[in-house]
Amino acid sequence: MSIEKTLSIIKPDATKRNITGKIISCFEEQGLSIVAQKRILLSESKAREFYAVHSEKPFFEDLVKYITSGPVVVQILEGQDAIARNRKIMGATNPEEAEEGTIRKQFALSVEANSVHGSDSQETAKSEIKFFFDNSEIAPID
Ligand code: ADP
Ligand code: MG
Repeated sequence: MSIEKTLSIIKPDATKRNITGKIISCFEEQGLSIVAQKRILLSESKAREFYAVHSEKPFFEDLVKYITSGPVVVQILEGQDAIARNRKIMGATNPEEAEEGTIRKQFALSVEANSVHGSDSQETAKSEIKFFFDNSEIAPID
């Protein structure tokens, strides 16, 4: 158990439906604190770079179109075991497989428009945080 930081993105399907606050409450009510946050429009090139690991997947082009289709809220969540905790709060990638009470079960529209992104390991958390934030934009808990 350790205090970690993880990168979270509230995706366009959620920002368009004005449910950013509802999603943030899920994090806060389950022990995660938002220590950095900004609302941005991802450029196509930045989206391609962020999702480069999926560039060979059949859904890649659609994914780039979707994630650039509206504003996203990028945020750093901090807390005990934040990386795994956030993945649990988010639920499975496909909302049909997500557990009751998870963000994706409650809010996701489809496997693509699944409302949130969360880093999946310590390595990706570190690189994804760096991808979006300068140190000066982060205000840690302590
Ligand atoms: P996760 O976001 O749960 O880590 P992945 O890293 O596997 O999931 O996929 C990244 C994102 O790509 C997903 O959150 C979703 O928006 C999209 N995606 C994943 N699988 C599919 C699919 N089969 N069809 C369409 N979009 C998908
Ligand atoms: Mg992933």
